Order: sequence, then structure tokens, then C-alpha cells
Amino acid sequence: MADRRDEVVVMGGGIAGLTTVLALRSAGIPAKAYERAPALRAAASGNGLVVWHNAVLALRTIGLDKHLDGIGAELHRYRFRSRRSGGLAEWSVEDGARRHGAPAYTVSRPALHGMLSELVGDDLVLGARCKEFTEDTAGVTVRFQDGRAVRGPLLIGADGLRSTVRHQLMPYEQPPRYAGMTACQGIAQLPLDKVPAGVFVNTFGEGPWFVYYRLGDDSVYWDAVLDDRTGRRLAGSAPSLGLGVREALLREFGQWPDPVPALIEATAEDEILPVDIYDRDPVPRWSTDRVTLVGDAAQPMTFNLGQGANQAIEGAVVLAQCLSSAQGDTAAALAAYERRRIDRAVRVARRSRANGVLSRWRHPVVCLLRDAFMRVAFDRLVYRKTYQLTMDTDIGALDSGTAQQEDSHR
Ligand SMILES: Cc1cc2nc3c(=O)[nH]c(=O)nc-3n(C[C@H](O)[C@H](O)[C@H](O)COP(=O)(O)OP(=O)(O)OC[C@H]3O[C@@H](n4cnc5c(N)ncnc54)[C@H](O)[C@@H]3O)c2cc1C
Repeated sequence: MADRRDEVVVMGGGIAGLTTVLALRSAGIPAKAYERAPALRAAASGNGLVVWHNAVLALRTIGLDKHLDGIGAELHRYRFRSRRSGGLAEWSVEDGARRHGAPAYTVSRPALHGMLSELVGDDLVLGARCKEFTEDTAGVTVRFQDGRAVRGPLLIGADGLRSTVRHQLMPYEQPPRYAGMTACQGIAQLPLDKVPAGVFVNTFGEGPWFVYYRLGDDSVYWDAVLDDRTGRRLAGSAPSLGLGVREALLREFGQWPDPVPALIEATAEDEILPVDIYDRDPVPRWSTDRVTLVGDAAQPMTFNLGQGANQAIEGAVVLAQCLSSAQGDTAAALAAYERRRIDRAVRVARRSRANGVLSRWRHPVVCLLRDAFMRVAFDRLVYRKTYQLTMDTDIGALDSGTAQQEDSHR
């Protein structure tokens, strides 16, 4: 493990960690990511996600947005349906792309992770599990589980929901909380007449819901989301009935409108990935003078706005901008980073949590009212505000002069 001492130490080789290394590199700041997984494949589990306009704009500031064309498919429309009563609401993502100056892409997570890790190259060290760090006035020393150590001027914890770095910063914090949802993700092959290209479809039931869209390689990503009651029933009944997850999902979703059952049927049992969804309450600080957090380590959020990875990318780019602007004053840079990021990340996380509650409503009358509301007022009262909140990033807004000015007013 090389120890250059001038290299920023980034803990975690997920989307946040890799984007941080690339953003720092583009700002002329050397950095290396350390990842506990022994191989890239193990660090990139999961399936599809949408890289929204805000993250594309962030990647553009460091010259990486062009790579998305090679791995993703442009998203054109977003559609809400009711399991029982058909179309509820729809918006044009193309209009959003024109308004915000960047498209949105559906990508497979391994493809996005693969793209980032290829660009990071030798600046990613695998098989390095962080144990603890010590900070002094000149830098940070990080120790790994296997006894190795590395020292740098700054430690960035990009080590996800159960971050070791965060735990050392906030030892008395409660652990992440189960958000009452379990997502079963799969990838299937279905013809174009069953699943059109460029459309994100979200179908609500009474408790569970189902999402699907095409990825860059033309496969279809799907996500069957179970609220905790259904999830527990499924988890409890599947093994005792001698069922696998796929069969149990077919019991739950088998009567849903096409192509929902066909997507489950077209996916092998061992290719369905159940994931429990967690989040954390916000905290007012993420940093000391030489240690900070980014991505899920800083502000995890439920997946109901599809913004966790997008906020991770935004955060990584803003952090690099702040470090580059502060010309070696690490404490000032981290304070500027917190000022730009915490409030935004918390607002997105709160909206995401609220959306999760609405999606899980299960009483038939409440669901009928929700569906009626979505038909009549969704566009005016929900979509525009949510879209504005999530997409209106200040990426690129802060030049070095402004950053220094801001810091001198602290
Ligand atoms: C079902 C589901 C669907 C989602 N859909 C979307 C979506 O559509 N759009 C979206 O934007 N987001 C989505 N998200 C959220 C998104 O996946 C996360 O927000 C994103 O992956 C966070 O990236 P990260 O790099 O911060 O964390 P992670 O991806 O968790 O990466 C952290 C990395 O740190 C490593 N690590 C952990 N501990 C240590 C240690 N001690 N030492 C060294 N390395 C360590 C881990 O192995 C991992 O590789 C979804 C999440 C789920 C669960």
C-alpha cells in the first residue's frame, strides 16, 4: 500500500468514492479510494438506476457525462399507473432535459460502477477494510483491519450506509433504521412491444408497488417493492410453503397488469436480489477539520425519489470544488462543503421518505383517494415541486473567489 502522504484518502469504492477520486483528480488533487471488497464485482452489487439531470450536470463539470452515452439509455417519459385503474400521471423527462440542460439516463449499476472504476484505474485499492482513523493537526492516519495503514492530508468517508468513518465521528448515533420497504430487484429480457424504450413505469398497488424500465443494453430492470407487512408475509410464507422468492412474488404480483408477471417469470430465481431499505435521521455536521463524509455515509435516503446515487455524485463534485477553491485550507473547504450540501441532501432525503409513505398506503379507500388525487392534481402539487427540488442543483455556481469570500465570512 503506497503511502504518498499528499494523497487524499477516500474510504469506499462505491459510486460516491469513485466519483470523489475522479472529481478531485480533475481539480488537480491526488486521491486514492480504498474498498473493502476483494473484487470489483462484489463492490457493484444491485441492478438499475436513473442518473438524473442533476448528476449528469455534476459529471459534466468534470468532463465525464459523455461516458454515460456508452452505458445508458436516455429516459424520455415517466409514467405512474394504478394496478387497478390504469394511468394516473405522466411527465415528459425530455422537457425536463431541455429545461435543465442535460438528459437523464437509465443505467445498470455494474455498468456505471465499471465505467467509474475503469477511469479511476490504479487509484482504487481493493481488499482494504477501514478499521479506524486518528486525526492530528497535520493529517489523518487510517488503519485497516489487516494491520496496514495509510496517511493523508484528509479522509473522506464514502463507505456507505453503515460507514465506519461516520461511526467513529458519531459513536453514539443510532444505527440505520429499516424504512418499512423491501425491494426485490431483477433483470429480464422482454421484447420492445411489451416494454417500450425510454419509459419509466411505476405501478401502485395497495401496499406493494412495481417499477420497470429498459437499461442501456436493452434488458429490462424491474423492482417489486413490498411494504413491511407484505415483505414479512412473503419472507415468512415462502420457505414454509416450499416457495422461492420468484414464486412468492408471482403469488403477490401474478394478477397485476402486463408486463409485471411476465417480467418476474422471465427472471431466474437466483437473479432476484431482495434488499431491505434503510435510512437515517439527518445530522447537523458531517466533518471535523480533516475528515468528512460523502454519499450514503453522509446522508442516506430511501430510494423513493431515485436520488441516493445522484446526490452522492453531486456531493462528490461539490466537495472537490470546495477543496480546490480553498487552496489548502482543509477546514475552511469542509465547512464550505457542509454549507452547500447538508441542507440540500436533507431536504431531498425528507421528501424521499414522505414519498415512501404515500407509495405504501394500503387501505383500498385511501388508495382510491390517492389515485384520484394523482390524476387531478399530481402535476401541479407534487411533480413540479419535487422535480424542482431534486434537479435544481447549484453545481458550478461557486467559483474559487466566492468560496474564499464565503469562508472569510464564517
Ligand atoms: C433497491 C435500491 C434502489 C435504488 N435505486 C436508486 C436509484 O434509482 N437512483 C439513485 O440515485 N439511487 C438509488 N439507490 C440508492 C443508491 O444505491 C445509493 O444511494 C448509492 O449506491 C450510494 O453510493 P455510495 O457510494 O455512497 O455507497 P455504497 O454504494 O454503499 O458504497 C460504499 C462502498 O464502501 C465500501 N465500504 C463499506 N465499509 C467499508 C470499510 N470499512 N472499508 C472500506 N470500504 C468500505 C462498500 O463495500 C461499498 O463498496 C437505490 C438503493 C437501493 C437499495
